[in-house]
Amino acid sequence: MKKGFVYLVGAGPGRADLITVRGAEVLKAADCMIYDKLANPALLQFVSKDAEIIHVPKRIGEGSCTQDEINKVLVEKALAGKTVVRLKGGDPCIFGRVAEELAVLIEAGVDFEIVPGVTAAVAVSSYTGIMLTDREYSSQVTFVTGREAEGKEGTNIDWDVLARFPGTIVFYMGMGTLESTARSLIDNGKPADTPAAVIANATFPSQRVVRAPLERINETCEQQKIKPPAIVVIGAAAASDTRFDWFTKRPLFGRSIVMTRDAAGNADFAAKIIQRGGNPLEFETIRIKPLTDSNDFLRVLAKISQYDWVVFTSGNGVTTFFDALEKLGKDARVFAFAKIAAIGDKTADRLGEFGIKADFVPGVFTSRELGKQLIGFTNLQNKKILLLRSQLASNELVETLAGAGAEVDNVAVYTAISANSESGWLADGISKGTIDWLTFASPSSVDGFFEQFDSKAVNSSNAKVASIGPVTSERLKGLDVKVDVTAREHTLDGLLDSIEEQENKS
Ligand code: SAH
Repeated sequence: MKKGFVYLVGAGPGRADLITVRGAEVLKAADCMIYDKLANPALLQFVSKDAEIIHVPKRIGEGSCTQDEINKVLVEKALAGKTVVRLKGGDPCIFGRVAEELAVLIEAGVDFEIVPGVTAAVAVSSYTGIMLTDREYSSQVTFVTGREAEGKEGTNIDWDVLARFPGTIVFYMGMGTLESTARSLIDNGKPADTPAAVIANATFPSQRVVRAPLERINETCEQQKIKPPAIVVIGAAAASDTRFDWFTKRPLFGRSIVMTRDAAGNADFAAKIIQRGGNPLEFETIRIKPLTDSNDFLRVLAKISQYDWVVFTSGNGVTTFFDALEKLGKDARVFAFAKIAAIGDKTADRLGEFGIKADFVPGVFTSRELGKQLIGFTNLQNKKILLLRSQLASNELVETLAGAGAEVDNVAVYTAISANSESGWLADGISKGTIDWLTFASPSSVDGFFEQFDSKAVNSSNAKVASIGPVTSERLKGLDVKVDVTAREHTLDGLLDSIEEQENKS
């Protein structure tokens, strides 16, 4: 039997792409992944589809796992010969109870590796510009826990020494005890006006920073309703130059933006929103349903090499097509000498993922333009053309190409069906005014969305509506939805550019 192995991996402070390269590599190799509350679930994207995923919410109270239970699962899975990844928030060795997990592994004879991660304090420093060290005023920094081991007699914290510590003091898990921490430090001689800062949800679009003198930091956090996870920074560093704060100055920082595409499309879009500092919220309106088991499809596939041109008009078409090929035990060689056209760079990129370099990529986003440009690019008289598209695509492209003398076969490889996602949270957000933008990237997501929502509820709320282009806007207007923004460039980046412009105006 294969020998089991355990990787204890630091997930980093929050934002998924702050995991290390080694951490991501190890996740890919996992047969079993055990992760806790602080590790970003988005990291599951790195894990193989066949891996077993175990979620261990280690909190105080009911429904949570004790450290003993976690230890037991770790050993059990490793002894069953699995490659186990134990994913922990931040760095595994900083307030991570790693020693306890290592002790049981050693006792059970299980080999292990520890992969470091960016610990919360360090990430807080980068994402706020609050420098933990500074050659002028902080030559030392200390990490302290606000919550000591349960049941431990006495305390390891020497408040007298800490109050006199001349550098930056950083508290982890310090929110529950912030008031008594501040009092103990002041009682032991730390000046009451020492700068303090609390940073919650660091590196996430929901990051919050509160600065106040030590004697008022707790009440300020209460007033501003700051919730854990949060880091407390005490010392001159907490008053550092606010111009260093680049993150909250991102153009869409803190804006809650609802994405209404299919799951894969939303994942793509989310990365772009995060890059601009926004908070992407996923509401899946449509699911892509492959139609590749139809006779039509199988028939054209058998003779696909006889076409002069095969045309893909969307990334979904490409993915569904290649998934079907794989299931049939075939690969890109089915195209033989057929030339391939892709509408827009996105579709071409997706083809690239499957090793295909498109012969023709017009930089346009509408079928009509594709038709015109293809006609300009090559003589289509008597040429055989295969379109692999959505069932919902219009007939315009077929007509344009046929008009130029081509023999066109149009085969639907997928369709969009309504996803019927859970909508309670979104209805709530829209009515409470916590949603800033609703975005629509296709008429079918408009239909899917307004099957579940009332246009009046949207029109009368604070949520603004953004559409990717005129066709989608028309569909919205047809349902009496007010459209605040129609993107000038009909891509996801164009959509976000237009939202930014609108935000700058208001
Ligand atoms: N091993 C982790 C720390 C675990 S203790 C690490 O290296 O970061 C949990 C504490 O970490 C929380 O109470 C909070 O103080 C801090 N923390 C973790 N993630 C955080 C985040 N995104 N923002 C602010 N504090 C965070």
